[in-house]
Amino acid sequence: MEPLSRDTGAVLERAYASGIERLLIPAVSEDNWDACIALSVFPGINCALGIHPWWADDDVDIKFLQEKLEESGAVAIGEIGLDWKTEVPRQKQFVLFEKQLQLAQKMDLPVIIHCRNAFEEMLEVLEKIPVRGVIHAWSRGPQLMNRFLDAGLYISFGGAITRSDAKKAHRSAKLVPSDRFVLETDSPSIGLADVAAGKTEPRHLAQIAQVMSVIRGESLEEIKEAAWVNSLALFGNIDESKI
Ligand SMILES: [Zn+2]
Repeated sequence: MEPLSRDTGAVLERAYASGIERLLIPAVSEDNWDACIALSVFPGINCALGIHPWWADDDVDIKFLQEKLEESGAVAIGEIGLDWKTEVPRQKQFVLFEKQLQLAQKMDLPVIIHCRNAFEEMLEVLEKIPVRGVIHAWSRGPQLMNRFLDAGLYISFGGAITRSDAKKAHRSAKLVPSDRFVLETDSPSIGLADVAAGKTEPRHLAQIAQVMSVIRGESLEEIKEAAWVNSLALFGNIDESKI
């Protein structure tokens, strides 16, 4: 995505230099599947393919998604989900989301879930079509988080926890079990306390891990280790999918 795609090599070099060994790059629409697949040839990079609710439409070809997932060795389906803050009709979002969940079940792939203001409906759908996966960019409190943990999902923390006023997200980050969280940047979209939205890069993960360590009162090493182990449990080993 712009602006990262203007100089992908430099972005990746800065990411590796910051200590990152593995990146998972999720797609948002059919238009950027090939770009994500192209990036996944680099060491330590995997892609996820899917259709984000903002691009929900009636003529989505789920068979084509399945073919692309199979031939690319993508390790997850994502981002997919429900977003009540967009204009896209809810019914279209439900239909697309459920089709992609069913595909995840059929292919035994984890999902990366995007959810904005649709938490009750999301929990209902997940009860109907249970999957493995993660809910990304968590910013809500522990009570709601626990319901997603009960539904079997991992919780992903990103830029929100770097903001001092994000009290709910801080409480969740403190209470999430150490074997159930992962870390993300969602770059370039989600900002940090001192980096504007649209301007973040994968290298900012180091800052998010640092904040997580302070919030949880655990060492940075412990945070990194937990996030690493959990990401492997969720998405499998780094390059296995490329054999
Ligand atoms: Zn998202």
